[in-house]
Amino acid sequence: MTIQLKEDLKKLDQKHFLHPTTSVAQQQLDGPAAIFTEGKGIYLKDIEGKTYIDGMSSLWNVNIGHGREEMAEVAKEQMAKLAFSSCFATFSNEPAILLATKIAELAPGDLNTVFFTSGGSESNDTAIKLARHYWLLKGQPQRQKIISRTHSYHGVAMGATNATGLQAFRDFTNSPAPDFHYVYKDSPQHLRETIEALGPETVAAFISEPVQGAGGVNVPQKDYFKEIRQICDEYGILFIADEVITGFGRTGKMFGMEHFGVVPDMMSFAKGVSSGYVQLGGVIISEKMHKDFCELSKGTLMHGYTYSGHALACRIGLKNIEIVEQEGLVENAAKMGDALLEGFKMLQEKYDFISGVRTFGLLGAIELTKSRETGELFDTPLSPIFVQETMKRGLILRTVTYDQDTVVFSPPLILSKAEVDEMLRILDETFEYVQKNYVQKEAKVK
Ligand code: PLP
Repeated sequence: MTIQLKEDLKKLDQKHFLHPTTSVAQQQLDGPAAIFTEGKGIYLKDIEGKTYIDGMSSLWNVNIGHGREEMAEVAKEQMAKLAFSSCFATFSNEPAILLATKIAELAPGDLNTVFFTSGGSESNDTAIKLARHYWLLKGQPQRQKIISRTHSYHGVAMGATNATGLQAFRDFTNSPAPDFHYVYKDSPQHLRETIEALGPETVAAFISEPVQGAGGVNVPQKDYFKEIRQICDEYGILFIADEVITGFGRTGKMFGMEHFGVVPDMMSFAKGVSSGYVQLGGVIISEKMHKDFCELSKGTLMHGYTYSGHALACRIGLKNIEIVEQEGLVENAAKMGDALLEGFKMLQEKYDFISGVRTFGLLGAIELTKSRETGELFDTPLSPIFVQETMKRGLILRTVTYDQDTVVFSPPLILSKAEVDEMLRILDETFEYVQKNYVQKEAKVK
């Protein structure tokens, strides 16, 4: 079978590829929105030869940019030497040991020991299970409840799905797991009340992203996490930071929690640890937890993925972090985030229907409303139309329409000032088009 034509690939895609987090109906109707064939730096190229700025680092993860030869070289070398060997039953390998050591060196406070996974969902399931297991070992078996925030996203494995505050992900099946509870995202007081209502002695852990990603790039108030840490300490509850998006430089610091001066008991990570060059994630646990595990655990730690400590993946993680450090990408994320915000503010001055703008390192959001004064949303969300139009103009972005009408940004950390300007130019052109063709038309109909 010779498959070359876009049309062939499109049909095969529709018949044989059930896509993740995709409208099945739309896929059957239109086929893939793009079939990507190459990537270089912040750009992706599709099968028709059209290039796009990858304004989301694909899925908030390709932080060092696409097509890095040095990653391919390291992968080739490691694969030829040792792609994989087991890490069960005390077996180990050099890249896993070195990456765990490097991550311990970078992580704040006493977060010093790493459990490896293949992605963010596995990491959060691991953190949840480690928290529950911890309390079994500590002789408090009733502490099994997990509390998370509204608008949170923690992934799609069973524990991660149930910890996710975005209801639509939990509604995907009608068999929710027990012992998951949710609190209003901006209210430490609601956390306290919920703990009191559940019974503090039944709560294992609280989990939160430092800045919520998929829920709308929601930045917490300055002291939010200080209060959260205090409440967790007061009731003896473990605090898990989900750094899957925010880890490894995206926010302008190595880890998001560093902005808030708070050290969690566990940190889950994925995405930016390998910039998507391979599947890799993990959980960093505190020295205290590790010491307790060492002292109290009698048998086998009955949790492990075949690919926990995958030699090739860990070697890629090491190279990725080396690039992040050598190229000063954490600092660049802070600097370019500021430049992007300047541009967003200028756009807000120009277009009335931009009601709010924010960046946090290289996470960004532009909120759209019919009226800035009342905050009233458009009858049909505008952001999905907007990102379709930026895509036509060569810029890939995403939207959040749950509770808001927001365009979100997460460009690669290698972004230059010229590339920021190019993104802003496309945004300006698209806002002008959308204003003329949608916003003014809606106003006329009224
Ligand atoms: N946690 C957060 C904050 C995420 O944004 C994601 C994915 O977007 C996940 C967890 C799940 O990670 P993965 O898709 O690698 O399983």
